[in-house]
Amino acid sequence: MIGFDYVKARDIGDAVTQIARQPDARFIAGGTNLIDLMKENVAKPERLIDITGLPLAEIEETEAGGLRIGALVPNSDLAYDRRVTERYPLLSSAILAGASAQLRNMASTGGNLLQRTRCLYFYDTDTACNKREPGSGCGAIEGFNRMNAILGWSRACIAVHPSDMCVALLVLEALVHVTGPKGSRVIPIAEFHRLPGDTPEIDTNLARDELITAIELPARGFARNHTYIKIRDRMSYAFALVSVAVGLELEAGTIKLARIALGGVAHKPWRIEAAEVPLQGRKPDRATFAKTANMILEGASGFAHNSFKIELARRAIVRALEQAAAGTPQPQSVKTIL
Ligand code: SF4
Repeated sequence: MIGFDYVKARDIGDAVTQIARQPDARFIAGGTNLIDLMKENVAKPERLIDITGLPLAEIEETEAGGLRIGALVPNSDLAYDRRVTERYPLLSSAILAGASAQLRNMASTGGNLLQRTRCLYFYDTDTACNKREPGSGCGAIEGFNRMNAILGWSRACIAVHPSDMCVALLVLEALVHVTGPKGSRVIPIAEFHRLPGDTPEIDTNLARDELITAIELPARGFARNHTYIKIRDRMSYAFALVSVAVGLELEAGTIKLARIALGGVAHKPWRIEAAEVPLQGRKPDRATFAKTANMILEGASGFAHNSFKIELARRAIVRALEQAAAGTPQPQSVKTIL
């Protein structure tokens, strides 16, 4: 671990000014990923700008009937907030599927969006990794790639995005509010994370000198028909091999609206909107859901150790759609898939 300066931001303006001034600085809030990266010499910021004193820890109602979640709201507080458990139980479920209770207590909402891949080679500085060191190669493609991508990967990088929360946010079509030296803007969650392409070192479309201030949830929460299924090697405290978030709106037993997102399969949470459209006006049934799964997984291809994920994802999508349609979401305290 290298030496670094530490400063505490006085306010949002001060935080943005400070990061713009020093290219090697990083914001720190919960630090649950960044400190690990620093200990392993993967991240080497010269300065940490502590943002934990900023007024970004509230959950507020929006005029549009949704919620505005401050970037510093801890993951635990968000998962257990009554407005979230009642109106956005999919989000609560996905958060509780991730990490451990201790980590969820520390991790911030904004930080969750920015956590980096857990690809083994990214953390091992003795190996090649284009994400850690652009141009050095990818140790995972010919190496142990059980946890890696089956969709959207490139020859430069086959890593997956690790967050559970972001998979639910994609179904909810959340908006990411950010601010920087050029002002404030809003990034739809679908455009926040990137595919690796030739620049896998860049995970998101957030500029280096921008700060996430809030996540906005639109009013539609799929409270009645939703589920989050997470399939993993270990029953808890493990990253997803495959996860599926589903939100449905039904009317008289017919699907009016469907949204489906996958985690653990690509460099970003994965959603194919064209696969959701044919579900509109259909009665829920397994054959229809199997066609949806095939559409979502079109073009999927794996590597030596992870091709099993394609069939696993296919089955998980069907099961998740069945759970959501029946109004029987997967409880995160029950580890076997219902
Ligand atoms: Fe690095 Fe990406 Fe290859 Fe993993 S998959 S070794 S993160 S370049």
